[in-house]
Amino acid sequence: LGPTVCVGEILVEIVATTVGNGFLEAQPLVGPFASGAPAIFISQCGRLGGQAAMVGAVGDDDFGRVNTDRLARDGVDISAISIEPDYPTGSAFVRYRKDGSRDFVYNIATSAAARFGWSRGVADLIDRTGHLHVMGSALSVPSARAVIDKAVDIVKARGGTLSVDPNLRKELKLDEDTERRFAKLVAAADLLLPSGEELERAAGVEGEAEAIQRLFEMGVKEIVLKRGAGGATYFESGGDRIDAPAFVVQEVDPTGAGDCFGGAYLTCRRLGMSPQQALTYASAAGARNVTVLGPMEGAGTRGELDAFIASTERRP
Ligand code: ADP
Repeated sequence: LGPTVCVGEILVEIVATTVGNGFLEAQPLVGPFASGAPAIFISQCGRLGGQAAMVGAVGDDDFGRVNTDRLARDGVDISAISIEPDYPTGSAFVRYRKDGSRDFVYNIATSAAARFGWSRGVADLIDRTGHLHVMGSALSVPSARAVIDKAVDIVKARGGTLSVDPNLRKELKLDEDTERRFAKLVAAADLLLPSGEELERAAGVEGEAEAIQRLFEMGVKEIVLKRGAGGATYFESGGDRIDAPAFVVQEVDPTGAGDCFGGAYLTCRRLGMSPQQALTYASAAGARNVTVLGPMEGAGTRGELDAFIASTERRP
Protein backbone atom coordinates (compact mmCIF):
# COMPACT_ATOMS: atom_id res chain seq x y z
CA LEU A 1 0.00 0.00 0.00
CA GLY A 2 2.82 2.42 0.83
CA PRO A 3 2.79 4.81 3.75
CA THR A 4 0.39 7.68 4.35
CA VAL A 5 2.41 10.88 3.99
CA CYS A 6 1.51 14.33 5.23
CA VAL A 7 3.33 17.46 4.00
CA GLY A 8 3.19 20.70 5.95
CA GLU A 9 3.92 22.82 8.95
CA ILE A 10 5.49 21.40 12.11
CA LEU A 11 5.18 23.79 15.05
CA VAL A 12 5.29 23.96 18.79
CA GLU A 13 2.19 25.33 20.42
CA ILE A 14 1.92 27.41 23.56
CA VAL A 15 -1.58 27.31 25.03
CA ALA A 16 -3.41 29.78 27.27
CA THR A 17 -4.87 27.93 30.25
CA THR A 18 -7.50 30.50 31.16
CA VAL A 19 -10.20 31.95 28.96
CA GLY A 20 -9.67 35.64 28.29
CA ASN A 21 -10.08 38.38 25.76
CA GLY A 22 -6.39 38.95 25.09
CA PHE A 23 -3.17 37.05 25.57
CA LEU A 24 -2.22 39.29 28.48
CA GLU A 25 -5.34 38.21 30.40
CA ALA A 26 -5.16 34.58 29.26
CA GLN A 27 -2.31 33.68 31.62
CA PRO A 28 -0.60 31.44 32.41
CA LEU A 29 0.55 29.91 29.14
CA VAL A 30 1.71 26.29 29.01
CA GLY A 31 3.82 24.35 26.54
CA PRO A 32 5.68 23.80 24.30
CA PHE A 33 3.49 21.06 22.84
CA ALA A 34 4.21 19.27 19.57
CA SER A 35 1.84 20.74 16.98
CA GLY A 36 0.99 21.91 13.48
CA ALA A 37 -2.20 20.49 11.95
CA PRO A 38 -0.33 18.17 9.53
CA ALA A 39 1.84 16.88 12.39
CA ILE A 40 -1.20 16.21 14.61
CA PHE A 41 -2.85 14.31 11.75
CA ILE A 42 0.20 12.12 11.10
CA SER A 43 0.75 11.53 14.83
CA GLN A 44 -2.76 10.05 15.06
CA CYS A 45 -2.08 7.87 11.98
CA GLY A 46 1.12 6.55 13.55
CA ARG A 47 -0.46 5.94 16.95
CA LEU A 48 -3.16 3.83 15.32
CA GLY A 49 -0.54 1.62 13.75
CA GLY A 50 -0.83 2.82 10.17
CA GLN A 51 2.35 3.25 8.12
CA ALA A 52 2.93 7.00 8.31
CA ALA A 53 5.58 9.54 7.33
CA MET A 54 5.93 13.30 7.55
CA VAL A 55 7.49 15.86 5.22
CA GLY A 56 8.35 19.23 6.77
CA ALA A 57 11.10 21.06 8.62
CA VAL A 58 12.16 22.03 12.10
CA GLY A 59 15.08 24.05 13.43
CA ASP A 60 18.09 22.52 15.15
CA ASP A 61 16.63 23.37 18.57
CA ASP A 62 14.65 21.96 21.47
CA PHE A 63 11.32 22.99 19.93
CA GLY A 64 12.23 20.93 16.88
CA ARG A 65 13.16 17.94 19.00
CA VAL A 66 9.84 18.17 20.89
CA ASN A 67 8.27 17.35 17.54
CA THR A 68 10.67 14.87 15.98
CA ASP A 69 10.97 12.85 19.23
CA ARG A 70 7.22 12.79 19.59
CA LEU A 71 6.49 11.73 16.00
CA ALA A 72 9.20 9.05 16.11
CA ARG A 73 7.67 7.69 19.35
CA ASP A 74 4.30 7.56 17.59
CA GLY A 75 5.80 5.34 14.90
CA VAL A 76 5.98 8.05 12.22
CA ASP A 77 8.86 7.87 9.72
CA ILE A 78 10.68 11.20 10.25
CA SER A 79 13.45 10.65 7.68
CA ALA A 80 11.99 13.31 5.34
CA ILE A 81 11.73 15.98 8.05
CA SER A 82 14.63 18.33 7.39
CA ILE A 83 16.55 20.02 10.18
CA GLU A 84 17.26 23.63 9.18
CA PRO A 85 20.17 24.93 11.26
CA ASP A 86 19.67 28.60 10.31
CA TYR A 87 16.02 28.91 11.28
CA PRO A 88 14.06 28.35 14.48
CA THR A 89 11.24 25.81 14.70
CA GLY A 90 7.88 27.43 13.94
CA SER A 91 5.50 28.22 16.76
CA ALA A 92 1.87 29.04 17.45
CA PHE A 93 0.18 30.61 20.46
CA VAL A 94 -3.48 29.87 21.04
CA ARG A 95 -5.95 31.44 23.43
CA TYR A 96 -9.64 30.84 23.94
CA ARG A 97 -12.32 33.51 24.05
CA LYS A 98 -15.39 33.45 26.28
CA ASP A 99 -17.63 32.76 23.26
CA GLY A 100 -15.72 29.52 22.58
CA SER A 101 -13.74 30.85 19.62
CA ARG A 102 -9.95 30.64 19.34
CA ASP A 103 -7.23 33.03 18.24
CA PHE A 104 -3.83 31.93 17.01
CA VAL A 105 -0.61 33.91 16.75
CA TYR A 106 1.61 32.08 14.28
CA ASN A 107 5.35 32.36 13.81
CA ILE A 108 5.71 30.37 10.60
CA ALA A 109 6.88 32.64 7.77
CA THR A 110 10.37 33.23 9.20
CA SER A 111 10.73 29.75 10.70
CA ALA A 112 12.10 26.40 9.54
CA ALA A 113 8.50 25.40 8.72
CA ALA A 114 8.66 27.76 5.73
CA ARG A 115 12.08 26.61 4.51
CA PHE A 116 11.84 23.04 3.34
CA GLY A 117 11.96 22.04 -0.29
CA TRP A 118 12.10 19.06 -2.59
CA SER A 119 15.08 16.90 -1.64
CA ARG A 120 16.42 13.43 -2.33
CA GLY A 121 14.84 12.21 0.91
CA VAL A 122 11.44 13.68 0.00
CA ALA A 123 11.65 12.23 -3.52
CA ASP A 124 12.47 8.74 -2.17
CA LEU A 125 9.55 8.89 0.24
CA ILE A 126 7.03 10.23 -2.29
CA ASP A 127 8.07 7.47 -4.71
CA ARG A 128 6.75 4.86 -2.26
CA THR A 129 3.80 6.85 -0.91
CA GLY A 130 0.41 5.17 -1.19
CA HIS A 131 -1.64 8.04 0.17
CA LEU A 132 -1.00 11.75 0.52
CA HIS A 133 -2.83 13.98 2.98
CA VAL A 134 -2.80 17.75 2.54
CA MET A 135 -4.07 20.44 4.89
CA GLY A 136 -5.24 23.73 3.33
CA SER A 137 -3.21 25.57 5.96
CA ALA A 138 0.00 24.26 4.36
CA LEU A 139 -0.89 26.13 1.15
CA SER A 140 -0.22 29.44 2.88
CA VAL A 141 3.45 28.41 3.21
CA PRO A 142 5.20 28.96 -0.18
CA SER A 143 7.82 26.23 0.26
CA ALA A 144 5.19 23.66 1.24
CA ARG A 145 3.09 24.62 -1.79
CA ALA A 146 5.82 23.66 -4.24
CA VAL A 147 6.43 20.31 -2.53
CA ILE A 148 2.69 19.59 -2.35
CA ASP A 149 2.16 20.33 -6.07
CA LYS A 150 4.87 17.92 -7.08
CA ALA A 151 3.93 15.25 -4.55
CA VAL A 152 0.23 15.30 -5.57
CA ASP A 153 1.14 14.85 -9.25
CA ILE A 154 3.51 11.96 -8.56
CA VAL A 155 1.27 10.10 -6.11
CA LYS A 156 -1.88 10.46 -8.24
CA ALA A 157 -0.04 9.47 -11.44
CA ARG A 158 1.06 6.25 -9.70
CA GLY A 159 -2.51 5.41 -8.71
CA GLY A 160 -2.12 6.58 -5.12
CA THR A 161 -4.88 8.46 -3.31
CA LEU A 162 -5.26 11.95 -1.88
CA SER A 163 -7.17 13.33 1.09
CA VAL A 164 -7.67 17.01 1.81
CA ASP A 165 -8.67 18.80 4.99
CA PRO A 166 -9.42 22.44 4.05
CA ASN A 167 -8.31 23.58 7.54
CA LEU A 168 -8.76 27.21 6.59
CA ARG A 169 -7.85 29.21 9.71
CA LYS A 170 -8.84 32.85 9.59
CA GLU A 171 -5.27 33.88 10.48
CA LEU A 172 -3.85 32.17 7.39
CA LYS A 173 -4.70 34.51 4.55
CA LEU A 174 -5.12 32.93 1.13
CA ASP A 175 -4.28 35.07 -1.89
CA GLU A 176 -5.81 34.45 -5.33
CA ASP A 177 -3.06 32.07 -6.39
CA THR A 178 -3.49 30.04 -3.21
CA GLU A 179 -7.28 29.97 -3.67
CA ARG A 180 -6.71 28.53 -7.16
CA ARG A 181 -4.36 25.89 -5.78
CA PHE A 182 -6.89 25.05 -3.08
CA ALA A 183 -9.65 24.54 -5.68
CA LYS A 184 -7.35 22.29 -7.73
CA LEU A 185 -6.47 20.25 -4.67
CA VAL A 186 -10.14 19.78 -3.74
CA ALA A 187 -10.93 18.58 -7.26
CA ALA A 188 -8.11 16.01 -7.04
CA ALA A 189 -9.15 14.70 -3.61
CA ASP A 190 -10.44 11.16 -3.17
CA LEU A 191 -11.46 11.98 0.40
CA LEU A 192 -12.44 15.43 1.67
CA LEU A 193 -12.61 16.19 5.41
CA PRO A 194 -14.15 19.66 5.81
CA SER A 195 -15.51 21.10 9.00
CA GLY A 196 -18.44 23.54 9.21
CA GLU A 197 -18.45 26.24 6.55
CA GLU A 198 -15.36 24.82 4.83
CA LEU A 199 -17.72 22.44 3.01
CA GLU A 200 -19.45 25.24 1.11
CA ARG A 201 -16.18 27.08 0.59
CA ALA A 202 -14.54 23.99 -0.92
CA ALA A 203 -17.52 23.44 -3.22
CA GLY A 204 -17.97 27.10 -4.11
CA VAL A 205 -21.76 26.84 -3.64
CA GLU A 206 -24.14 27.49 -0.75
CA GLY A 207 -26.18 24.87 1.09
CA GLU A 208 -24.99 21.55 2.51
CA ALA A 209 -26.78 19.29 0.02
CA GLU A 210 -25.79 21.49 -2.93
CA ALA A 211 -22.16 21.55 -1.81
CA ILE A 212 -22.04 17.77 -1.38
CA GLN A 213 -23.51 17.23 -4.84
CA ARG A 214 -21.13 19.71 -6.43
CA LEU A 215 -18.08 18.10 -4.82
CA PHE A 216 -19.06 14.66 -6.12
CA GLU A 217 -19.49 16.18 -9.60
CA MET A 218 -15.96 17.57 -9.24
CA GLY A 219 -14.65 14.03 -8.69
CA VAL A 220 -14.38 13.71 -4.90
CA LYS A 221 -15.27 10.12 -3.92
CA GLU A 222 -15.88 10.31 -0.18
CA ILE A 223 -16.74 13.26 2.08
CA VAL A 224 -16.76 13.31 5.86
CA LEU A 225 -18.17 16.50 7.34
CA LYS A 226 -17.00 17.32 10.89
CA ARG A 227 -19.46 19.10 13.16
CA GLY A 228 -17.55 19.43 16.44
CA ALA A 229 -19.64 18.29 19.41
CA GLY A 230 -22.48 17.78 16.88
CA GLY A 231 -20.72 14.69 15.48
CA ALA A 232 -19.85 13.96 11.87
CA THR A 233 -21.51 12.78 8.65
CA TYR A 234 -20.14 10.50 5.95
CA PHE A 235 -21.37 11.02 2.38
CA GLU A 236 -20.84 8.75 -0.62
CA SER A 237 -21.50 9.70 -4.22
CA GLY A 238 -24.29 7.16 -4.67
CA GLY A 239 -26.34 9.07 -2.09
CA ASP A 240 -25.49 6.94 0.95
CA ARG A 241 -24.85 8.81 4.18
CA ILE A 242 -24.02 7.79 7.73
CA ASP A 243 -24.43 10.09 10.71
CA ALA A 244 -21.89 9.51 13.48
CA PRO A 245 -23.00 10.93 16.83
CA ALA A 246 -20.30 12.53 18.96
CA PHE A 247 -19.08 10.96 22.21
CA VAL A 248 -20.03 12.84 25.37
CA VAL A 249 -16.87 14.33 26.87
CA GLN A 250 -15.72 17.27 28.94
CA GLU A 251 -13.91 19.56 26.51
CA VAL A 252 -10.59 20.84 27.88
CA ASP A 253 -8.79 21.93 24.69
CA PRO A 254 -10.57 21.76 21.30
CA THR A 255 -7.41 22.22 19.20
CA GLY A 256 -6.48 19.16 17.15
CA ALA A 257 -9.88 17.39 17.25
CA GLY A 258 -10.36 17.58 13.49
CA ASP A 259 -6.79 16.50 12.77
CA CYS A 260 -7.04 13.46 15.07
CA PHE A 261 -10.47 12.66 13.61
CA GLY A 262 -9.06 12.81 10.07
CA GLY A 263 -5.91 10.82 10.88
CA ALA A 264 -7.97 8.11 12.54
CA TYR A 265 -10.60 7.97 9.78
CA LEU A 266 -8.04 7.71 7.03
CA THR A 267 -5.89 5.15 8.82
CA CYS A 268 -8.87 2.92 9.61
CA ARG A 269 -10.05 3.07 5.99
CA ARG A 270 -6.55 2.24 4.75
CA LEU A 271 -6.43 -0.67 7.21
CA GLY A 272 -9.55 -2.01 5.50
CA MET A 273 -12.35 -0.92 7.85
CA SER A 274 -15.82 0.09 6.61
CA PRO A 275 -16.81 3.78 6.65
CA GLN A 276 -19.05 3.05 9.67
CA GLN A 277 -16.24 1.47 11.67
CA ALA A 278 -13.74 4.15 10.65
CA LEU A 279 -16.23 6.84 11.71
CA THR A 280 -16.49 5.31 15.17
CA TYR A 281 -12.72 5.34 15.67
CA ALA A 282 -12.46 8.84 14.15
CA SER A 283 -15.19 10.22 16.42
CA ALA A 284 -13.47 8.62 19.39
CA ALA A 285 -10.08 10.05 18.37
CA GLY A 286 -11.51 13.58 18.00
CA ALA A 287 -13.46 13.42 21.26
CA ARG A 288 -10.64 11.86 23.28
CA ASN A 289 -8.20 14.50 22.04
CA VAL A 290 -10.33 17.41 23.31
CA THR A 291 -10.26 15.99 26.84
CA VAL A 292 -6.50 16.59 27.15
CA LEU A 293 -4.57 19.87 27.16
CA GLY A 294 -2.23 20.19 24.17
CA PRO A 295 -3.06 19.83 20.47
CA MET A 296 -2.02 16.18 20.03
CA GLU A 297 -1.64 14.99 23.61
CA GLY A 298 -4.93 13.07 23.48
CA ALA A 299 -4.28 11.25 20.19
CA GLY A 300 -5.03 7.59 20.92
CA THR A 301 -3.59 4.18 20.15
CA ARG A 302 -5.94 1.41 18.97
CA GLY A 303 -6.12 0.08 22.53
CA GLU A 304 -6.79 3.51 24.03
CA LEU A 305 -9.54 4.23 21.50
CA ASP A 306 -11.13 0.80 22.05
CA ALA A 307 -11.18 1.48 25.80
CA PHE A 308 -12.59 4.98 25.19
CA ILE A 309 -15.35 3.64 22.90
CA ALA A 310 -16.31 0.95 25.42
CA SER A 311 -16.53 3.38 28.32
CA THR A 312 -17.97 6.56 26.76
CA GLU A 313 -21.58 7.38 25.92
CA ARG A 314 -22.58 8.82 22.57
CA ARG A 315 -25.08 11.61 22.06
CA PRO A 316 -28.52 10.34 21.03
P1 ADP B 1 -12.06 20.75 13.30
O1 ADP B 1 -11.07 20.75 14.45
O2 ADP B 1 -11.45 20.33 11.99
O3 ADP B 1 -12.91 21.98 13.22
P2 ADP B 1 -14.22 19.40 14.72
O4 ADP B 1 -14.12 20.41 15.79
O5 ADP B 1 -15.51 19.30 13.98
O6 ADP B 1 -13.05 19.53 13.64
O7 ADP B 1 -13.89 17.99 15.40
C1 ADP B 1 -13.76 16.81 14.66
C2 ADP B 1 -14.55 15.69 15.29
O8 ADP B 1 -14.07 15.45 16.62
C3 ADP B 1 -16.04 15.95 15.42
O9 ADP B 1 -16.72 15.60 14.22
C4 ADP B 1 -16.41 15.06 16.61
O10 ADP B 1 -16.57 13.72 16.19
C5 ADP B 1 -15.16 15.15 17.48
N1 ADP B 1 -15.30 16.25 18.46
C6 ADP B 1 -14.79 17.51 18.39
N2 ADP B 1 -15.14 18.25 19.46
C7 ADP B 1 -15.87 17.43 20.26
C8 ADP B 1 -16.53 17.59 21.53
N3 ADP B 1 -16.51 18.73 22.22
N4 ADP B 1 -17.20 16.52 22.03
C9 ADP B 1 -17.23 15.34 21.37
N5 ADP B 1 -16.64 15.14 20.18
C10 ADP B 1 -15.96 16.16 19.62
